[in-house]
Amino acid sequence: MVRLNEIRDNEVAIAPPQAEDAALVFIGRISTPWTSRLETPRQGRPDGPVCTIEIFEPWVAALKGVERFERLEVLYWLHQSRRDLVLQSPASNGEVHGTFSIRSPVRPNPIGTSIVALEKIEGNRLFVRGLDCLDGTPLIDLKPDRTLFKPIAPPQPGDFETGQVHMCKKIDG
Ligand code: SAM
Repeated sequence: MVRLNEIRDNEVAIAPPQAEDAALVFIGRISTPWTSRLETPRQGRPDGPVCTIEIFEPWVAALKGVERFERLEVLYWLHQSRRDLVLQSPASNGEVHGTFSIRSPVRPNPIGTSIVALEKIEGNRLFVRGLDCLDGTPLIDLKPDRTLFKPIAPPQPGDFETGQVHMCKKIDG
């Protein structure tokens, strides 16, 4: 069984438009025990192996305060993914799902996110559990877990707005 870049029964690939707008800056590199996509966890787990996130200069100063959070949200670039599937068959059984209804690494912009447990920080290296990416995966961003984060900036009007029925589309079914 192959499950790397092949097209499976009923999957649909499109010709993606040329990427020409957002230019990402990789701010670091993730080291994990996994060198094959066939062995990497489908989703990280909080008791998974300790992995290392190395932050590159000039971004190391941006780690100030990160140690206060026991959990972080990590965003990374799933650099070995194809990017052209709109329908995918994760079980390889002919049943297909829309790309935006699943968390497959195959996406138009292959961004992975995980909530990780922060074990410690040493200089420009963070030691975390909860990742599910290949060794060498480029790092896009780090943020405190939103459930632990209280905005530091003063509140603004939108913070107090509640939903208005006319702004929401009713979804049938
Ligand atoms: N937790 C993230 C999420 O939900 O956004 C990623 C989930 S994705 C299902 C995890 C899978 O992506 C792994 O099991 C592996 O097959 C694949 N993967 C991991 N690192 C990758 C990389 N650098 N490039 C391409 N695929 C990768």
